[in-house]
Amino acid sequence: MTYQNFSLAQLQAMDAAHHLHPFTDHKDLRAAGSRIITRASGPYVYDTEGREILDGMAGLWCVNVGYGRDELAEVAYEQMKELPYYNSFFRCSTPTPVLLSQKLAERAPKNVNQVFYGSSGSEANDTALRLVRHYWALEGRPQKNRIISRHWAYHGSTVAGTSLGGMGGMHDQLYGAVPNIAHVMPPYAFELRRPGESDHDFGLRAAQAVEDAILEAGADNVAAFIGEPVMGAGGVKIPPESYWPEIDRICKKHDVLLMLDEVITGYGRTGAWFAAERLGLEPDTITTAKALTSGYQPLSALLVGDRIAKTLVEKGGEFYHGYTYSGHPVACAVALRNIEIIEREGLVERVRDDTGPYFANALNERIAGHGIVGEVRAFGLMGAIEIVADKETRERFPGQGTAAVTLRDHAIEGGLMMRAVGDTMILSPPLIWTRDTIDMACDRIVTALDRAEKDLRKG
Ligand SMILES: *Cc1c(COP(=O)(O)O)cnc(C)c1O
Repeated sequence: MTYQNFSLAQLQAMDAAHHLHPFTDHKDLRAAGSRIITRASGPYVYDTEGREILDGMAGLWCVNVGYGRDELAEVAYEQMKELPYYNSFFRCSTPTPVLLSQKLAERAPKNVNQVFYGSSGSEANDTALRLVRHYWALEGRPQKNRIISRHWAYHGSTVAGTSLGGMGGMHDQLYGAVPNIAHVMPPYAFELRRPGESDHDFGLRAAQAVEDAILEAGADNVAAFIGEPVMGAGGVKIPPESYWPEIDRICKKHDVLLMLDEVITGYGRTGAWFAAERLGLEPDTITTAKALTSGYQPLSALLVGDRIAKTLVEKGGEFYHGYTYSGHPVACAVALRNIEIIEREGLVERVRDDTGPYFANALNERIAGHGIVGEVRAFGLMGAIEIVADKETRERFPGQGTAAVTLRDHAIEGGLMMRAVGDTMILSPPLIWTRDTIDMACDRIVTALDRAEKDLRKG
């Protein structure tokens, strides 16, 4: 059965009849009909109508090497023929996760040398939560158990991922979160900085909120702090430069472990293999997924620091945790080749030295001055555009989030896939974008901004 035998209307009808989508209002979706993407090539995706859309989101933050990489398909095919699956339980292993672990240990920060596999970022964060709490129990301090996170953090959608995350709407539907996880203010200067407060001082204040939470619980009761280096799904919130060094200092002072969620920032997006390197951090766990395979296969890798690994190996006995697909041979083969592509094409260096700075500059020069833009931000190839009704007062348009959705729809109409989060537009393009692609994206953003402004000011 191939989709070509069906019309768009037929596909949409079957989609509505049988397919429940993630993060979707199904009544809405059924009224509008889904946009069905059928193929993709390089930086573009194509829908059933054959419309070419520049993918400003790299799928969902993941297709870092772009679409249409035949060698990733070929390596998966070869691996499936040779050994499609075998588990890594019961003292077994297969070659590709072994080679991938070696590779990741080379690329990770110096103190991080072990890998635990899953199939999604959410699963990897479940593993991280269990591992961190188990570490303290093995150290004879089971009460050192609380995790500090931030409001608006995104750590996935399993029960543990949602509990670790700080999304209000998701928590409302949890009906019982994992206990003993506390959330503090995020380092989101655009909305939370006080009048007259410098970015630097705001960063210190946001970090102080973490220390306050540690002191409130008592450091003896706090296992770890978890954070995305740059909050992604929460709206590409880039912390002031003062924030992470202060978090690092606070964690060390109180002997609180540092868990970095690099599911978006890993594998080159920030112009480093991991943002930890760019920020000078030595985390105890690094959660990675998404661009590990550029989305060609589902795979996550929790990178585990020496401190936890040593205790687990020496004092742990059996760790009662794992997934059927931990270390899946096909997914690991694809990840190995994906990393090889990133290395061969120098994509990390390209973001660091060329496209990253060019992207930041383009947003500042061409987008920041627009009448409905309150601020632009960029970090590597992650970008954000704040939509406001009034540039001076930063007052938003009425109807939270509707302005950004209006803009998003115009952007897609004009051939650029972007996402709206609240009143923020976000971008996370494939790392294969060139200066020309960035220019093309900016042209389309400006057009979309003009059209959205016309609509929004009319009302
Ligand atoms: C996407 C994401 C996750 C969850 O990954 P899944 O593969 O969707 O489970 C976790 N953390 C961050 C920072 C993410 O962006």
